[in-house]
Amino acid sequence: MINLDFSAAVALYAGCVLIILLIFWLADKKQKESNHSLDDKFIWFCSICSYTYINTKEEVISTCPRCGSYNKRN
Ligand SMILES: [Zn+2]
Repeated sequence: MINLDFSAAVALYAGCVLIILLIFWLADKKQKESNHSLDDKFIWFCSICSYTYINTKEEVISTCPRCGSYNKRN
């Protein structure tokens, strides 16, 4: 059996927990970044009034919230 005193065991445990938390934090951050790049897909540019807006519901044709005209995805 490996001989460890109490403070070394606590330090080792805390280090392991910190490493696990760091891994989860990095994974979460990476996921948020990928979600953000997915949001860029839903940015629409109105060809009539040149208004830029976000629409996550439609993928091919969406309605401009300012002038109400239909915009088609290029
Ligand atoms: Zn418009």
